[in-house]
Amino acid sequence: MTETTIASASEMDVGRSMHDLVVDLYPICRSITGDGARQTLARINEIILLEIHEIPTGTPVLDWTVPKEWNIRDAFVKNANGDRVIDFQASNLHVVNYSVPVQRSMTWQDLRPHLHSDPEHPDWIPYRTSYYVEAWGFCLSHNRLLELERATADDEVFEVCIDTSLTEGSLTYGECVLPGVTDAEVLISTHICHPSLCNDNLSGMALATYLAKSLRSRPHRYSYRFLFIPGTIGSIAWLARNESGLDRIHHGLVVACVGDAGPFTYKRSRRGDAEIDRVVAYVLEQRGSSSSIRDFVPYGYDERQYCSPGFNLPVGCLSRTPHGEFPEYHTSADNLDFIDRQALAGSMDVCRQIVEMLEANRSFVGLATKGEPQLGRRGLYRAMGGFADPAERQMAMLWLLNLADGQHTLLDVARKSDLPFQSIRETADVLAAHELIRFRS
Ligand code: ZN
Repeated sequence: MTETTIASASEMDVGRSMHDLVVDLYPICRSITGDGARQTLARINEIILLEIHEIPTGTPVLDWTVPKEWNIRDAFVKNANGDRVIDFQASNLHVVNYSVPVQRSMTWQDLRPHLHSDPEHPDWIPYRTSYYVEAWGFCLSHNRLLELERATADDEVFEVCIDTSLTEGSLTYGECVLPGVTDAEVLISTHICHPSLCNDNLSGMALATYLAKSLRSRPHRYSYRFLFIPGTIGSIAWLARNESGLDRIHHGLVVACVGDAGPFTYKRSRRGDAEIDRVVAYVLEQRGSSSSIRDFVPYGYDERQYCSPGFNLPVGCLSRTPHGEFPEYHTSADNLDFIDRQALAGSMDVCRQIVEMLEANRSFVGLATKGEPQLGRRGLYRAMGGFADPAERQMAMLWLLNLADGQHTLLDVARKSDLPFQSIRETADVLAAHELIRFRS
């Protein structure tokens, strides 16, 4: 068996494990607070050790306040025959997420403004939320809505039940910190607040979980902090509680929508030229398959909070097809059929390469920068024995020595020299061993 087939076999194993986790978490009705988030984090905690945090309702967090906790037991609309014509038990998307409790009889006319459908995709149930405005409603496919409308008798009365609670409780999030050699951190953040939707964002949760698991079993220079948080309010709450330690974050990535078959998309941090931006661009470029790099915009996932001007953290966002750009987005069609093991495995592979490169991309300074050091005296001139391509090694050495002004990282040298990163990295180790350069980070 070649190394490539071993790697892809283990890649497929991890793809399978990620998919199994998605299958387990799929039925849970999650929201920005409540037991759905707790059950989800409990399942992830079986794979990686999570610290679970609870922030009480009413806690001020930056310009926001932690909302009341929402829980749901059941919800339905019954027709005059007592049949559940809309049933939360069939799909948790049927209820507008965060609906206030309702128990009453209504005519179709009164009920109709509370029903949401998407005529453009008439077979799919749309996903709707009402977190910060107290409201209630049901979502259903447009075809089902028309069918119900046709079947409704003029004087028919429906029984409407939304068995939810909105109470003083807390907001729950999970955190997993893997200490490295240094305190400098890589932040990986993923949102956990969506109910039965696979790409957005069970895929991101599965990726973060198994990336943390793989990092647990290997040494690493950086410390890694994984956040499993409800979108927006979760990152705002985390930032509010951790403001004093934010200078530890050297690189960060929000992961979302990484399970579909689309090409990779990376959205740069607000800084635009942070090391994470350069590293992800290089990794995607080296893979050779189509991918796109976009500039930061103040719309999207939690990178908006990490990159708000008062923090301006070096955090980008990795997706395959970005949110809102696949028709299945925020509908019942973002289901288990929409994602696949191979896509999940490929996303894991990209993240591992990003981590590898962050770990390897060090800044350095030359110890003999006035004139070229005499390589022959050190046995280094045209004598890189053991390397596949001595000419390439020679050039790598000259580039490294010339860019050893403390202003460049190994990736910068690879870029400028157009030599493979691996070659630059190995040559840098040789120069460091001969005390011609010293790594600074
Ligand atoms: Zn979403």
